[in-house]
Amino acid sequence: MAEPEFEQARKELVSTLESSTLFEKNPEYKKALEVVSIPERIIQFRVVWENDKGECQVNKGYRVQFNSALGPYKGGLRLHPTVNLSVLKFLGFEQIFKNALTGLNMGGGKGGADFDPKGKSDNEIRKFCVAFMRELSKHIGADTDVPAGDIGVGGREIGWLFGTYRAERNRWEGVLTGKGGSWGGSLIRPEATGYGLIYYVEHMIQYATGGKESFAGKKVAISGSGNVAQYAALKVIELGGTVVSLSDSKGALIATDDNCFTPEVIHNIAALKIARKSLTDLENHPFKYIEGARPWKEVGKVDIALPCATQNEVSADEAEALIACGAKFIAEGSNMGCTQGAIDAFEAHRKANAGNAIWYGPGKAANAGGVAVSGLEMAQNSQRLKWTSEEVDQKLKGIMKACFENCLETAKEYITPAEGEFPSLVAGANVAGFKKVAAAM
Ligand code: GLU
Repeated sequence: MAEPEFEQARKELVSTLESSTLFEKNPEYKKALEVVSIPERIIQFRVVWENDKGECQVNKGYRVQFNSALGPYKGGLRLHPTVNLSVLKFLGFEQIFKNALTGLNMGGGKGGADFDPKGKSDNEIRKFCVAFMRELSKHIGADTDVPAGDIGVGGREIGWLFGTYRAERNRWEGVLTGKGGSWGGSLIRPEATGYGLIYYVEHMIQYATGGKESFAGKKVAISGSGNVAQYAALKVIELGGTVVSLSDSKGALIATDDNCFTPEVIHNIAALKIARKSLTDLENHPFKYIEGARPWKEVGKVDIALPCATQNEVSADEAEALIACGAKFIAEGSNMGCTQGAIDAFEAHRKANAGNAIWYGPGKAANAGGVAVSGLEMAQNSQRLKWTSEEVDQKLKGIMKACFENCLETAKEYITPAEGEFPSLVAGANVAGFKKVAAAM
């Protein structure tokens, strides 16, 4: 069966490993690459539930338990009509190396179903979650496999899933992360992916400018309007930057010269998204709405671009448009946000323009903050303790700093950049993540 998304993710990893000195230094890792490319286990099941009209519905459910060398399988659940085995294998594969880059002990997995929450009532989504967990609960556990949210699964869905797990297994354990604060969730988990992305990019900016610049005064294009995009945008604003776009699957909202996104607008958008509405339902706003568009060719001059919607949301053309608009930093809040063509364009520019290049931070490093705080939630659950927001945020900052430095130093060691060239963070992330997993295997 053709698995285009998984093949894309695997090729992207393999090509950077092969262009590094990793296999020269560790020939035995070639075998590890072959082994790590096949999931330890895939669970596929049917999910039968009843809609509000009393009609029987059926969906395909999955959990890909990809690799447990570093710890229990860990990764989100995606509910979206595009979900299939290729998409979940790509996400699970990325998750293995992302989780390794957090420095915490988590293996990699991913799951979900081809269920579309759009157009469903709360009651229908609850019934779906209960039916989905009735089967999934047989295969997961706090020391086995710990799912969380992804596209289509937020705190509310985690609540329905967790309640079903407790009922099915008669156990309260940290089997899901992203739980509510009053029933075992970690503070800062909802914010973590977006905040972590901005902490990672802050290190990129500081390194590239010798500590002279930060987010202050920077124009930032963001795509998406879900959890990741919202908290990335709020953190940019807090750090003195300007957010000039957000988007959803139907179109993009672009700021005008006099009006950029404020925390108030972002909170209104968050309320819309909880109600499963789209940006076309946002009322009384001063922005330009472009139907069917992604922000990249519409935003004009920007300093930073952050894809935070879904996979393959930046094409090679759009990458060239961002380079032409003077963008200096691009980092993925989404998983595999950039197509291979876009990555090639950014990497070619990095090589050709020394200290004046665009610098690309791949999702498996830049968006690792979400799963990192999931790891911190697992630690708190195991200890039966709850840390303060400040404690969790401090730890998240430390993890993102270590992750950035690991990508940077690994790139310097295994790829050897030319004089004045920024080290390749995509190669650094791939080599560092893979090396840790291969050694453990
Ligand atoms: N879905 C998120 C990701 O792609 C988080 C996974 C988790 O917290 O387990 O990393």
